[in-house]
Amino acid sequence: MQLILLGPPGSGKGTQAQLLSGKLDIPQISTGDIFRENIRIKTELGKLAQDYMDKGQLVPDNVTNEMVAERVKQQDCIKGFILDGYPRTVNQAEFLEAIAKIDIVINLILEEEEIVERISGRRTCMNCEASYHVNFNPPKKKGVCDNCGGELFQRPDDKPEAVKKRLEEYQKKTKPLIEYYLRKNILTNIDASPSIKEIHSRLCELLNINKKFSL
Ligand code: AMP
Repeated sequence: MQLILLGPPGSGKGTQAQLLSGKLDIPQISTGDIFRENIRIKTELGKLAQDYMDKGQLVPDNVTNEMVAERVKQQDCIKGFILDGYPRTVNQAEFLEAIAKIDIVINLILEEEEIVERISGRRTCMNCEASYHVNFNPPKKKGVCDNCGGELFQRPDDKPEAVKKRLEEYQKKTKPLIEYYLRKNILTNIDASPSIKEIHSRLCELLNINKKFSL
């Protein structure tokens, strides 16, 4: 199954993609995570992406597209994949269409007020990129990742000035994708305001997968 999780920053794409990836046994491909990993290990790609990311801007399409094209060619994508944070522009969606056959696009819907609340409380693992929220989804031990014991931090682009720019980028460049995929008849809207567990359960229902859930 080739799946896209669409939605504004902070709508829970990463969290839901991670859960679905475990259930469906297909990889989560988060372009944001790939960029952050490249920044961490100081590659050329990381250096290029960092300026854009820190300002809350999108990394140029040609760079992002090429990176995704390489990633989906890998062996672990044979049964499918979950795209989280890609595509983010119509150009990216058109590029993707030439290299993949997307089955379903799930659009997570969330009010701007709630987006800001979620992003400002978000903490991310330095090591494995797992995502937490100080109130809604706290780790068992403060500041420490449940999965790998890594240190949790606030992403630079989760700070208020960058968040404002990310929301503008979303409105201007990513939101048109809703219309794009509606026209192709493969988009389903999901309310992203309930709990992580509730949304996951709705996604499982939608995708016809075993609903049993343990957090
Ligand atoms: P995310 O982790 O998905 O919120 O992405 C963090 C940042 O990475 C974004 O604000 C962009 O700067 C960059 N980024 C991630 N995915 C894309 C994409 N598909 N196109 C362009 N830039 C991206």
